[in-house]
Amino acid sequence: MAKVLIVGAGGVGQVVAHKCAQLPEVFSDITLASRTEAKCRKIAAQIERPIRTAQVDADDVPQMIRLIERVQPKIVINVALPYQDLHIMDACLATGVDYLDTANYEPLDEAKFEYKWQWAYHDRFKEKGIMALLGSGFDPGVTNVYTAHLHKHEFDEIEYLDIVDANAGSHGQPFATNFNPEINIREITQRGRFWEKNAWQETDPLSVKRTFDFPEGIGPMNIYLLYHEELESIARHYPKLKRARFWMTFSENYLNHLRVLQNVGMTRIEPVRFQGVDIVPIQFLKALLPDPASLGPLTKGRTCIGVVATGTRGGKRKTAFIYNICDHEAAYREVKSQAISYTTGVPAAVGAEMMLTGKWRGKGVFNMEQFDPDPFLEVIGPRGLPWKVVPLDAPME
Ligand code: NDP
Repeated sequence: MAKVLIVGAGGVGQVVAHKCAQLPEVFSDITLASRTEAKCRKIAAQIERPIRTAQVDADDVPQMIRLIERVQPKIVINVALPYQDLHIMDACLATGVDYLDTANYEPLDEAKFEYKWQWAYHDRFKEKGIMALLGSGFDPGVTNVYTAHLHKHEFDEIEYLDIVDANAGSHGQPFATNFNPEINIREITQRGRFWEKNAWQETDPLSVKRTFDFPEGIGPMNIYLLYHEELESIARHYPKLKRARFWMTFSENYLNHLRVLQNVGMTRIEPVRFQGVDIVPIQFLKALLPDPASLGPLTKGRTCIGVVATGTRGGKRKTAFIYNICDHEAAYREVKSQAISYTTGVPAAVGAEMMLTGKWRGKGVFNMEQFDPDPFLEVIGPRGLPWKVVPLDAPME
C-alpha cells in the first residue's frame, strides 16, 4: 500500500488516475497535481474513490519539492510534458522519492529527444538509493517490454526489429493530434532515424514508407519511418541487433495538413515577434487545434502497436509479431479517454505497480527492457492491454 503523486492532468494523467484508483491494494492514496488544478478536480469527480488534487508548476523545483514533502508519496508518476522531466527528477532526488515517466526529456528550444540528459542522473539516483523508470508508456514502454519478451522467450538471437504503431481509428475532425499536439508535431516533423550496422542512419522526415498488414481485421495500412526514443535504449541494451526501426501510420489527409502547416511556418518552434509579443508558432497552433481530451467521445476504431522481430531459434530463422489491439470506444467507456491516452496511461500505472510491489527494483535510472518482462506482461492484460504473439510468413522489407 503506497501513496502516489501523479503530475499532469491531461489525457494520460486522466487514465493513470483512473487505473491507480482501480487498484487500492497497491495505490492506497492518490494525489493528482497539475498546473491547472481545475483539470485535476474534473478528473477526480469522474472517479468513485476519493482522490486528492493539488496545483503545481513542476518547472519550479522548490515548489515541486514542497508538494512532495506535503504529500509524502512513495513514487511520483510524471505524465506532464517532456520539458518537466529533469525538474521533477531534481525534486525526487532532493526528497528521496522514486520517479516514473512516459516520455524522455526534450529541451523547449530544440526538437531533439534523447536519453542522455536523464541517463546522466543514474549515479545520483543510485547514491540516493532511489529508482527512476523511464518511458513507461506504450511506445516507449510496452514496446521495450515486448522486445525483452521476444528475446527471453521467442528467439535465441534477434537480428532485425521493427516497431509498428497504427491508429486505425477516426475522430471525424479535419485535423487533430491524439496526444499533446506540440509534442506530437515536434516528433513527426524531425528527421527520420534508425539503427543499422552499429550507427544511426538518417532519412528526410516521413520519406520512407511501407505497407503493413495489421492483424484482426485492421488490414493493410501505410506506415512511415520515424525516429522514436525507445530505439536509443533498445540499441544500447541489445547491441547485437543488426537493425532497429520505428514505423507509424498516418492518413493522407493528416500528412497533407501537416505539409501545409510546415510550409507556412506554423510548426516552427522559434519565437516570432508579432504585434509586440513573442509567439511560438507551434504553441499558437496547439491553442487552435482540438484538445486531444475532447476527441475521447468522438473517436472510433482501434489501435494496434507491436514489435516485429526476425532472428533465429534453434538454428532456424523466424519472424514473430507481438502486439496489442485497443478499442477507442471501449477505452472511453472505461476511463473517458481514447485509446492513445489509454495505451499510455495503463502501462504507466503498471510500471508504478511493478516498482511499488518490488517486482521491478533497482537503484539508479532504468529503461523498461532492463527488467524481467514476465511480471509486467502477466498483469498488463488484466489491467486492460492484452497481448498476443503470432508468427509472420516473411520478415519486414
Ligand atoms: P496533455 O497536454 O494532454 O497533458 C499534459 C498535462 O501536463 C496538462 O495537464 C498540463 O497542464 C500539465 N503540465 C504542463 N506543464 C506543466 C507544468 N509545468 N507543471 C505542472 N503540470 C504541467 O498531454 P498528454 O496527457 O497527451 O501527454 C502526457 C505525456 O505523455 C507527455 O509527456 C507525452 O509525451 C507522453 N506520451 C507518451 C506516450 C507513450 O506511449 N510513451 C504516448 C502519448 C503521450 P495544463 O492543463 O495547465 O496545460
